[in-house]
Formats: sequence, C-alpha cells, structure tokens
Amino acid sequence: MHKILIVAEHHDGKLDPATARCVSCAQKIDGEITLAVLGDAPAAVAAQAAALAGVTRVRTVAHPVHAHALAAAYAPQIAALAAGHTHVLAPSTTFGKDLLPRVAALLGVAQVSDLMQVEDARRFVRPIYAGNALVTVEVPQEQTVVATVRTASWPEAAATAQPAPIAPQAPDVAPPAHTRFVALESGKSDRPDLQNAGRVVAGGRALGSAENFQLLYRLADRLGAAVGASRAAVDAGYVPSDLQVGQTGKIIAPALYIAVGISGAIQHLTGIKDAGTIVAINKDAEAPIFEVADYGLVGDLFKLVPELTQALD
Ligand SMILES: Cc1cc2nc3c(=O)[nH]c(=O)nc-3n(C[C@H](O)[C@H](O)[C@H](O)COP(=O)(O)OP(=O)(O)OC[C@H]3O[C@@H](n4cnc5c(N)ncnc54)[C@H](O)[C@@H]3O)c2cc1C
Repeated sequence: MHKILIVAEHHDGKLDPATARCVSCAQKIDGEITLAVLGDAPAAVAAQAAALAGVTRVRTVAHPVHAHALAAAYAPQIAALAAGHTHVLAPSTTFGKDLLPRVAALLGVAQVSDLMQVEDARRFVRPIYAGNALVTVEVPQEQTVVATVRTASWPEAAATAQPAPIAPQAPDVAPPAHTRFVALESGKSDRPDLQNAGRVVAGGRALGSAENFQLLYRLADRLGAAVGASRAAVDAGYVPSDLQVGQTGKIIAPALYIAVGISGAIQHLTGIKDAGTIVAINKDAEAPIFEVADYGLVGDLFKLVPELTQALD
C-alpha cells in the first residue's frame, strides 16, 4: 500500500486549489493520502483539506513559526512527517518549488519535478526543454518519491460530504534558528488569481507601456479574467513579474486565454500548453502564436482591443 503525504499550500486561511490538484495526482498513484497542514492556527485550512474527496486523513502541525510559509521552517517538519510514507508531493508552484528540494535533500533523495502523468507509483512523465519534449522518469524502489506536481495537468479533486479525520501532530523537530520571517510585500488585486483563473487576458511587448496595459485590464474586467503577460512585457516594466506566464513564469490552464501582442515564443507557449481555447490578437499574420490559437484576429491591438471591450459592454 502506498502512503502519500501531500503538503498543503494555503494563503490567508484558504486552501490553495493547487493542493486539490495534487490530490488528483495522488489518487492516480493509488494509496492512502495524508494532507499535512502547517500553520500557526491550521484548523480552518485543515477542515477544507479534509473535505477533498480521496483524502484519507489530515495532519496539522501548529506552531507560531508557521504563521508564514517559510521553506526553511517547513522542510525539517515535512521530512520528519515523511517517515513511513512512500511519497511526498507538493504543487509545482513557487511554494512547492521552494520547499520540496529541501525536503528531498533532508531525505537524501533526488526530487522529481512537474509530474504530468503517472505511469505507475514510481514512473512518471514530466516535461523537459520548456515543454518541447516529455520524459519518463523512474524513482528507485528504495527511495521515497519526493515530487512536485504540475498543477495545470491535473483537475481539482472534488469535494466530499464525508470529511477525512483531522488530528494534530507535533514532530520532534526544533524550528531552524537561521531563518525567520521579516516581511511580505505583495501586490493586492481584486482580480482573479492568475494561477487559478478560468479566463486570462495576457499582453506582450507590443503594449508598449504600463499605461497601455490599462486596455487589457478593462477587457479583463469585462470578462472577469485575470491579467497575465509575456516576459518581454515584464522585463520592460509594464507589469510586475508575478504576472509572467511561461517557462520562467506561471504555468496556467485557463478555459480561455487571450494573447494580445504576444509573438508566441516557445518559452511563453509552455505556460499555456493546457489552456482550453486560445485567442490571439497580433498584427503579424505569421506570428507563431497563430499556430496554437483556436481563434485569431490579425490587426492592430490598439484598435481591436477597445472594439472587443466595447462589444462586450
Ligand atoms: C530561458 C528563457 C526563459 C524564458 N521564459 C519566458 C517566459 O516564462 N515567458 C515568456 O513570455 N517569455 C519567456 N522568454 C522569452 C521569450 O523567448 C520571448 O522573448 C518573449 O516571450 C517575447 O515576448 P513578446 O511575445 O511579448 O514579445 P515579441 O516577441 O517582441 O512579440 C511582440 C508581438 O507583438 C506583435 N505586435 C507588435 N505591435 C502590435 C500591435 N500594435 N498590435 C498587435 N500586435 C502587435 C508583433 O507582431 C509580435 O508578434 C524566455 C526566454 C528564455 C531564453
């Protein structure tokens, strides 16, 4: 019987949907699924975790040091909780990518990144070369599988009316003395979260300025969409880096993705591989984005985007 430990990601008392996607991946591995919820007061998040179908149990670790998710503080606790488990999973988000390499190092194993498919409990398919190729990797029998899950490849596990049992756990591990939380600076937005949004409007270098990005914010507001960007737009300072979509940005899977003034470089496309309907607006009919687009508008974005926004009004 496989025993799978999933590290829950949560923010402001809410379980991140990425965790529910990890549960779907774990269900494919097949085994008992334990969700570990670390926090200063983890009860509310634990209740949300327990309500995910397929979860066998939830273990909470309450400590003031976990008021903020610090990989340095989480890792030794997760490594201790991993005892007796065959697998340790976390989402392939900034949180999971920060945490799991440390856990793998503490357990003395190599981490597997970005699980896209499960062939069996130790064989997995993952992307390489910016998603241009897929590779099958196998973890040796004697090693704990420590892996991040490519959330865009997995649906969120459904909710269940019969929640799993929740119990506190107190690993005998002292928090590290070398790392402490100082401050968090983050942009506040009323818009949907880019990583989990069903609709995304993204802009590229062609927007030309931060002010011109307002065109996209207006369109996104009409659609109830999140706003994303290419790396060129981020590097030019038009939008903050947390809006970047692609290989070195966010990997997303919205039902609708509208790419405005984005050429469609492979590093960008790797971030939208699992998007549903892709719409491209570009003045160059030969732009590579049209090779992946379901719908294309060839023309000047400064004319087409206001027209589209007005039509939606
Ligand atoms: C290691 C590495 C990692 C990278 N990671 C990422 C990543 O995560 N995400 C990412 O996006 N990129 C990434 N890149 C960069 C990537 O290669 C491209 O340079 C980048 O995606 C280009 O951004 P863009 O499409 O906005 O700009 P451009 O390639 O300059 O394209 C602009 C497009 O706008 C069109 N256009 C211009 N004016 C208008 C107009 N008025 N109306 C309509 N269309 C117009 C043009 O025809 C063109 O197609 C990475 C590169 C490397 C080497």
